[in-house]
Amino acid sequence: MDGIAPARRIIDQAAQRAATVNEQTGQAPCLATVLVGEDPASVTYVRMKRARCEKAGIRSRHVALPATTGTAELVDTISALSHDPEVHGILLQHPVGPHIDERAAFEAIAPEKDVDGVTTRSFAAMSFGLNGFASCTPGGIVRLLEHYDVDLAGKHAAVVGRSAILGKPLGMLLLARNATVTYCHSHTIDLPSITRDADIVVAAVGRPRFLLGDHIKPGAVVIDAGYNPGNIGDVDFESASRRAGLITPVPGGVGPMTIATLLAQTVDAAAQQLGCTPDESFPHFRSN
Ligand code: NAP
Repeated sequence: MDGIAPARRIIDQAAQRAATVNEQTGQAPCLATVLVGEDPASVTYVRMKRARCEKAGIRSRHVALPATTGTAELVDTISALSHDPEVHGILLQHPVGPHIDERAAFEAIAPEKDVDGVTTRSFAAMSFGLNGFASCTPGGIVRLLEHYDVDLAGKHAAVVGRSAILGKPLGMLLLARNATVTYCHSHTIDLPSITRDADIVVAAVGRPRFLLGDHIKPGAVVIDAGYNPGNIGDVDFESASRRAGLITPVPGGVGPMTIATLLAQTVDAAAQQLGCTPDESFPHFRSN
């Protein structure tokens, strides 16, 4: 399941919509990125996201804070962006340092600007099927499944990982699409027996090549959300691809869909905040 082509299509649509927003309001959509410290991987991710924004006609405003920044200062910075009418979406690159209360920082993002879907309000809205932005990686995964016409109703989906930004929200999105969802985590007993029973397996563990072919039911759909140093996923592609019906590669699977979702949600947020005429041809990046 290639993620590059469907991601390109979403970004093209977002770029067209961004141009219309600009025409109608005189303002281009703007994403604020906030980075604390200089972790090389985080610096690269933020640079990549900003470059993609620029190509799609989305302005970005970057706020780089020193690694010594504390929770109060970070919360104040994010609150100021939340109140800035020229900023339509806010992305706090995470993880932040262990001395920072990450949850407090996320909660300082205004819900209408939470284009990365990280606040408790976005999570609750998504879980209840109300308007709100989905967390980008889970949102990108469900769009990838839709692109490949994977029918989720009545299917058993095993989600390995339960983080607040990935496993947990993804399970909610699959549940909303009538899958029967099992969450697996580090305390799960006999994980292989669960994944082997699943029609859809999602790996969101953060451990290179954690799931092997032997964990997969023949014909199952395998989504590898993992991204470990050296471009290595959480699934052993070689053995898993011999059993799976459909499988995402790393890189080129979930990653591009995550960025595409971020861009599309930013344009969507701007269109709403600036009171643009709704465009039926632009997919509204609502969780349900
Ligand atoms: P995380 O916060 O570290 O969560 C990892 C999850 O895996 C936890 O729920 C943990 O269980 C579970 N886990 C760890 N060891 C396990 C084991 N031995 N058996 C079963 N479950 C185990 O990681 P994350 O932020 O969700 O990220 C997961 C992966 O996705 C990483 O590789 C990350 O780089 C990647 N990612 C990719 C994108 C993208 O755009 N492609 C975006 C975000 C993340 P407990 O809860 O019990 O500790």
